Amino acid sequence: MNFSIPEDLQMIQNSVESYVKKELRPLEKKIEESDHIAIDVDRMLRKKSVALGYYGHNLPEKVGGAGLTTLGQALIGIELGKTTMALASTVGFLPGALKFTKPEQFDWFLNPILNADKVVAYAVTEPDAGSDFGRVSTHAKKEKGLWCLNGTKQFISNAESADFILVIAVTDPSASLKSRFTMFIVPTSTPGYSYVRSFKKMGWHGHPLGVFNLDNCLINDDCILGHVGGGFEAVMSTINSTRVHLSGRYIGMASELMEMALNYSNQRITFGSALNQHQALQFMLADSDVEKQAATLLMYEAALDADANNPKARISAARSKLYGSEMVGRVADRVVQIFGGSGYVADLPIERMYRDARAFRIGEGTSEILRIQIARNLISA
Ligand SMILES: Cc1cc2nc3c(=O)[nH]c(=O)nc-3n(C[C@H](O)[C@H](O)[C@H](O)COP(=O)(O)OP(=O)(O)OC[C@H]3O[C@@H](n4cnc5c(N)ncnc54)[C@H](O)[C@@H]3O)c2cc1C
Repeated sequence: MNFSIPEDLQMIQNSVESYVKKELRPLEKKIEESDHIAIDVDRMLRKKSVALGYYGHNLPEKVGGAGLTTLGQALIGIELGKTTMALASTVGFLPGALKFTKPEQFDWFLNPILNADKVVAYAVTEPDAGSDFGRVSTHAKKEKGLWCLNGTKQFISNAESADFILVIAVTDPSASLKSRFTMFIVPTSTPGYSYVRSFKKMGWHGHPLGVFNLDNCLINDDCILGHVGGGFEAVMSTINSTRVHLSGRYIGMASELMEMALNYSNQRITFGSALNQHQALQFMLADSDVEKQAATLLMYEAALDADANNPKARISAARSKLYGSEMVGRVADRVVQIFGGSGYVADLPIERMYRDARAFRIGEGTSEILRIQIARNLISA
């Protein structure tokens, strides 16, 4: 397998790396401590990202995105993993389903999003339906030419400040999973839409996760993303590349942690020698290095499979996401230990990464669901 990185992608990665260091890193502490990113700062950063050409980098060129390959998206993921989730989200890895936007939806919907004048969120999860997509009960019924939406969605990233939400709803309850759902563009200004609350959470400070209700929300056919019955396809069609991008983030975070651990363990003296001379800590560094490298190789393989439309792509993306998300949790745990008390207090970003990494095993396919997918593939082979 050839994992060499094309020069143009390397340049994009380097450019995002320096953007994260110069523009995002200085904002991390304040956002982390206040658990809030001011709307004007959020919009200003999104606009900067638009100007630099990063915003919507994962979307195809035919809808105005940068058309980056999955490998390119993964490399950007590595750099975004080095900052907080709130700041990373301003760089504009957008919901992949936007690729289904029709030309007549560009002016009022997609272009304002791609220019960062409007913000979009993506809503599948409900109080009674998380991993089990088949239990989604938000529904849309056509009445007098309009779609009437009812239901509740929860744990929705950025719903708090979103102008539009992509909502998965049942349109044909008797149909199979593949054609039961439709994806709707719901403007949050629609009467009947109400934002209920934001959760207080363990990590991802400044990145709001919210609940909203749809109570007899009336929208027209113009607000269908893709086609009626195409919701499942809209959710699944970019799930592999999203998982590979996220794998990149886990590797980026692990790299930051490792760099800090290597520097600190070289400087800190206990019992007459640097920490890195104690074998117990050397083993922690070695295990972290091996696991990070393994995650990187899985990520490259998954990216290349996705870009080649290889039928293996679904499983290689699942493997990469599963292993990477668990790897960074273990690395964060070891690095807290290497730093001792200094790893536990909030003067350094280590405890923040430890908390942030915990969610990686839950969003975009929990570890258990990914294991089920991988195991079923093995059993059926
Ligand atoms: C930080 C964060 C951001 C998120 N952002 C979004 C968003 O923007 N939009 C959105 O729609 N959702 C979002 N989510 C929701 C996320 O997708 C769900 O939390 C996830 O799908 C799991 O669903 P659940 O929380 O309902 O857990 P459940 O599905 O209830 O699962 C609970 C536990 O049981 C396990 N489990 C479930 N079924 C099985 C089984 N068959 N066998 C073995 N174990 C099983 C799960 O792995 C999990 O450990 C976000 C979540 C987080 C934490």
